[in-house]
Amino acid sequence: MVIGFDTTVFPKLDYKTPENFWKTIEYLEEFFSIHNDSLTDVIASAQAMKRCFDEFDPFIQHYTSRVCPYCGTVCCANKFGFPEFADIISFLALGLQVPDYDLDVDEDAICQFIGEKGCILPRLQRPYRCTWYFCDPLMAQIDIGPIKHYRQFIQGVQDLSRTRGDVMRAFLPVWEKLGKDIITT
Ligand code: SF4
Ligand code: SF4
Repeated sequence: MVIGFDTTVFPKLDYKTPENFWKTIEYLEEFFSIHNDSLTDVIASAQAMKRCFDEFDPFIQHYTSRVCPYCGTVCCANKFGFPEFADIISFLALGLQVPDYDLDVDEDAICQFIGEKGCILPRLQRPYRCTWYFCDPLMAQIDIGPIKHYRQFIQGVQDLSRTRGDVMRAFLPVWEKLGKDIITT
């Protein structure tokens, strides 16, 4: 069973108003810096999540490198490259820099982070939905691949979902106690 986490309990980031968006990011950066002692479980859970990402990444790369170069309808649009609140929590819990998003872009245009060989962001600095998304052609390749790969796929998505959920489950009580009321966006 996949034990995920409903991230809609967190505020929505306001991409339409860059000032509000960056104000929230700055607030969260400060939150992690000030409340570091209360966030030890969050940071430990984030390291477990990182291990799952690192383990699953070669599998995803294996399949995307075979399928994506031939894709006629590339799924990477700006609106998918923007993070949600929970993504920012993951980045900060891992001590990663929040990417320098250009919010003044057409949200339906090809994502600002697409490079010649695909996404230029390290996997852990991408929105979670980017890693979680497996389109039909990718799924078809996994389906016709070795059964061992299919099991690896199921295990990989379950581990990602569970460990990211653990990060959020650890963060939520700290956030509710020390941060929630301050965010106004
Ligand atoms: S993940 Fe699927 S839809 Fe997206 S670029 Fe690759 S093949 Fe195309
Ligand atoms: S995988 Fe990278 S390029 Fe594609 S939508 Fe996500 S951030 Fe943008």
